[in-house]
Amino acid sequence: MNSELYGTLVFELSRKGRRGCAVPATEAAAGAVHRALPESLLRKEAPDMPMVDEPSAVRHYTNMSTNNFGVDTGFYPLGSCTMKYNPKINEALASSPEIAGLHPFQPAATVRGALEAYYLLQSFLSEIGGMAEFSLNPYAGAHGELTGLMVIRAYHAERGDFGRTKVIVPDSAHGTNPASAAVAGLQIVETRSMPDGTVDLDDLRSKLDESVAAVMLTNPNTTGMFERRIPEIAEAVHAAGALLYYDGANLNPMLGVARPGDMGFDVMHINLHKTFSTPHGGGGPGAGPVGVRAGLEKYLPNPRVVKHLDGSFGVISDSDSALGRVTFWLGNYTVLRRALAYILTLGADGLMHVGPFATLAANYVMNSLNDLYKQPIPGPCKHEFVFDGLLDKSTGVTTLHVAKRLLDMGFHAPTIYFPLLFHESLMVEPTETESKETLDAFIAAMRKIAEEATSRHEQLKQAPLCTPMSHPDETEAATHPKLKWKDLT
Ligand SMILES: *Cc1c(COP(=O)(O)O)cnc(C)c1O
Repeated sequence: MNSELYGTLVFELSRKGRRGCAVPATEAAAGAVHRALPESLLRKEAPDMPMVDEPSAVRHYTNMSTNNFGVDTGFYPLGSCTMKYNPKINEALASSPEIAGLHPFQPAATVRGALEAYYLLQSFLSEIGGMAEFSLNPYAGAHGELTGLMVIRAYHAERGDFGRTKVIVPDSAHGTNPASAAVAGLQIVETRSMPDGTVDLDDLRSKLDESVAAVMLTNPNTTGMFERRIPEIAEAVHAAGALLYYDGANLNPMLGVARPGDMGFDVMHINLHKTFSTPHGGGGPGAGPVGVRAGLEKYLPNPRVVKHLDGSFGVISDSDSALGRVTFWLGNYTVLRRALAYILTLGADGLMHVGPFATLAANYVMNSLNDLYKQPIPGPCKHEFVFDGLLDKSTGVTTLHVAKRLLDMGFHAPTIYFPLLFHESLMVEPTETESKETLDAFIAAMRKIAEEATSRHEQLKQAPLCTPMSHPDETEAATHPKLKWKDLT
């Protein structure tokens, strides 16, 4: 995009009377519309639309599209989000008419293959998670958390244990954990992390009693550390009568290597859009299937796909003990099919390589930068790591400045100021899909920024200078977004 144009905010391209298309006069068609619609619904005046020539319209949209940064345009080390490259073949598959053209009202007999694929994914995820059964209904990780907590509530309620109103989450938890607990009508209790970033078991124990419904943990946690004491934690949680929930957003580094079910987790979700090949970002389409250990299957929501004794597949939506519905239909079907394609393409052996490569990439980047950036938690890390800003803080260069300068250098910024454990958090997740050359280029950029922080920090603080907009008012943009072309004039 022409940054000079943007600099002076010349956004209005419309010139009265200008046209971008040649539509033949269709008085007959216009007459037909007039006859079909009641007079009261017809416009009295032409709509106030922008009037532009075709090249201007094409350039406007094409230029705007190049302002998007995505995994397809560059390295996207956004910690906690697993912005990995998603094979294009899965996109082609998901948009094929056989899949994208299905209608939820179609009788089961006309969609046998689709139901079998759905059933297969349910089974694969159960195997991968070490769970008894999965529901593929939820549309996102947060939706999965809510569904999982509703399963946990249903479990306690059925035993007549109505006093369990609290959910314990670590202070490093992703914001959706407490938010989901609140939406599920539960109170949130925070538990501390130790200096090594893992859960403080003594603090957790002191908070466990008969008022706790569940403990929610992420593993590896949001600092990129593996929680080694899950079996011990699970024992303490179960002894207190509560259930242990696994936030599977960080399943990527242990995919095919370790299973939450084997560690002692009772309920979990998986963010298919993170680990299993769906492009995401900006709230884009996702899926957050929920799995449960044996004994909790009956609480999973409807509808579900089952395999009948004769080998055929059917949809059930009438199991009484189920939560009811959390979605209209079976779920986000095209996202589910991408995940299935990804699992089948990699196979068991391929899946086992995801975690080690993601972990190797993260440790390589971390160890190539920790002489210039502050590494608050001793390594090695798993799939991601957190720096607490630059080692040398005397120049006043903050994590925000580093992130903004990276934009000038063609990289998406890492996650910043999360987790809340450190003042200058900067969280990098390279993922297993990047080449060594890409990682080296990122390392070089981060090292150059650290060097600039000493040699020319006043200039560095002006960054970004090469992006279409330099310093938008982020609060204003979030609270008063301008969503119509007219607002921009
Ligand atoms: C992304 C993420 C979530 C939320 O998942 P959504 O699919 O964005 O709703 C929850 N926990 C962690 C640790 C995450 O990284």
